[in-house]
Amino acid sequence: MTTPPLSPVPTVASPVSSAPTAAWDAPVTSVRGVGPERAALLERLGIRTVGDLLLHQPRRHEDRRKLAAIRDVELGVPVTVAGTIVAAGVKWFKMRTRSVFEFILDDGTGRLHCRWWNVPQLARVYAVGDRVLVFGKPNSLRPRQIDHPETERLESEDDPRVHLNRIVPIHGLTEGLSGRVMRTLVWNALAEFAACIPPLDPDLVGAAGADGRPWPTREQAVRDLHFPTELADAQRARERFAFEEFLDLQLAIQRRRQNLEAKAKTDSCRGDNRMIRPFLAGLGFRLTAAQTRVLREIRADMGPGRPMRRLLQGDVGSGKTVVAACTALMALESGADVAVMAPTEILASQLAGHFRRWFEPLGIRVGLRAGGRVEGGDGAGQGPAVWVGTHALIQDAVEFQRLGLVIIDEQHKFGVSQREQLVRKGNFPHLLVMTATPIPRTLGLTLYGDLDISVLDQLPEGRQSIRTHVRDESALPKVWAFVRSELEAGRQAYVVCPRVEESEHDDVRAVTKELKRVRAALEPFAVEMVHGQMDPAVRDAAMLGFRDGRVPVLVATPVIEVGVDVPNASVIVILSAELFGLAQLHQLRGRVGRGTAASHCILVARETRAEATDRLNVIAGTTDGFELAEADLRLRGPGELLGQNQSGMPSLRFGDLLADAALVREARDRVRVGVSSSQVPDARSG
Ligand code: ADP
Ligand code: MG
Repeated sequence: MTTPPLSPVPTVASPVSSAPTAAWDAPVTSVRGVGPERAALLERLGIRTVGDLLLHQPRRHEDRRKLAAIRDVELGVPVTVAGTIVAAGVKWFKMRTRSVFEFILDDGTGRLHCRWWNVPQLARVYAVGDRVLVFGKPNSLRPRQIDHPETERLESEDDPRVHLNRIVPIHGLTEGLSGRVMRTLVWNALAEFAACIPPLDPDLVGAAGADGRPWPTREQAVRDLHFPTELADAQRARERFAFEEFLDLQLAIQRRRQNLEAKAKTDSCRGDNRMIRPFLAGLGFRLTAAQTRVLREIRADMGPGRPMRRLLQGDVGSGKTVVAACTALMALESGADVAVMAPTEILASQLAGHFRRWFEPLGIRVGLRAGGRVEGGDGAGQGPAVWVGTHALIQDAVEFQRLGLVIIDEQHKFGVSQREQLVRKGNFPHLLVMTATPIPRTLGLTLYGDLDISVLDQLPEGRQSIRTHVRDESALPKVWAFVRSELEAGRQAYVVCPRVEESEHDDVRAVTKELKRVRAALEPFAVEMVHGQMDPAVRDAAMLGFRDGRVPVLVATPVIEVGVDVPNASVIVILSAELFGLAQLHQLRGRVGRGTAASHCILVARETRAEATDRLNVIAGTTDGFELAEADLRLRGPGELLGQNQSGMPSLRFGDLLADAALVREARDRVRVGVSSSQVPDARSG
């Protein structure tokens, strides 16, 4: 799989974020009806210019072409009706601590009761005789009734073309700005400024989508976004703006690649096998077919000129570390130095440990730079050829002689900018980033669009299956009895809690508290803890004890989430499991099943809320990381999946990377970044 040469840049006269026209960029006070006061309210919604107002996407639309008759409303079916208030008042309960405000609406066909709990001030807003529109879901038919509906007052001075007998926009609002006013302002702005929307090169967006449906012009789209003729027109308008956003992203990716292409004069790091051969011979196992294939892809990329930019995806336990080691050896054979960056000190020192064990017999020095620790870099004569470390590696003081290869483990923990900072320490070094987080295809296209992707889609042979169980906290005694039986068989166990310290506000399980409980439950087995707030030396000692088998049980926060490798561990118990995302649980589960023993992951949920247990059952039901990543994205959004550090995450106003997958692909194809679709593997076909 080699990268085809980039196709020429499409002639983009104006990029997607085109030159603003003056009127479009004028302060929102240019719109009729917006004075300083309303401008201040709009500012709260992030609206400063005319253009901001016109691209303020409605939350939804309401079809007011034919309002329903109150007589015909149905239970649980959302409906809009219009009528006159014929009665209104507040009732108080519980010593005036609770209230309900109610009005009754009559439209000539029937009556509708509208109620609000504990908002008594509404009595000052609505009076008998007022004409109002009401939107909501009836929760009773006898009497006909809606609780907490959305309402809108019909004023005699209103322009009926704006608010009635059409599909109207319902915008996101802020206190002090009613839906009616907002709609009127947008209407006024459209009348005067819709035609001022900056034009785009029509060739970029094209006349029609891949499915043949024509695109509205930008001017038409901004009108349809708010006041469409049909609901489908509003949807199409949103799609157009979403498509523009995706094009923008893809163009940025393409620019980055072309920059690299133009400047880079990278040295070859293909190597000559003289180190890899003895390394593989001493490894104790044979590479899987997937590892061999990926290494071939990597070697093809590491030639002179254009540097490698490759993402290696592989589920937990698929053997990425060995691939990283072989890649490092290729560079070392070619006389280049190597930097390896990991997200935590524990992982960095573990990686350094592997590399030392593997490389020192070959006469290669491996240094470690993590937190305040520097090992092997004493400056005496020749420095190490391989530096392993945390983000401490990107600090200014760190210099590399001949940095030819950068390897980043668990990429999702770092932002793109950190990655680039390290890369800048060399002269366009080759780059390999590794992640165990399966990135759903559509996210991969945008987040990692500038990387070629390799997938380790095969686990080493002889792996034991991991059985996942969901248990209530009441079953904990049985869980500990089971853990004890594993310990007695000579195995080891992890116990994971979401927190370090207990909080008085909830009963989320915390490491410091559980340590005592677990010690009591598993006596006389030794139990130690690790978490991110410990003295690193104490923490490393505990980790080491666990790795060497002297400590059979480790109580930990998710610091052990990524990469820790102790093949003798056969059980992981995750407490307060309902608080973790699916992708994270999958990572945690991957800490076991690495040796020859059948392994177990026990998810203990405090509370059997339906939604939480549903999620836990999803993870119990599959070990397919891609499936879980997609589910997580649907359930919890991209932040969860990609970790706290979202610096790589584009902020989109109209687009939705998951729901608009087809548009993402279409944008990619139009911009034609030099990534052919075959290089971005499908989640399942890999
Ligand atoms: P990850 O992809 O999660 O980083 P590791 O690189 O930590 O996985 O590998 C997990 C375990 O599998 C390690 O103990 C490693 O030595 C072992 N391993 C890697 N490749 C193979 C292989 N081809 N055959 C057998 N064991 C392997
Ligand atoms: Mg790893």
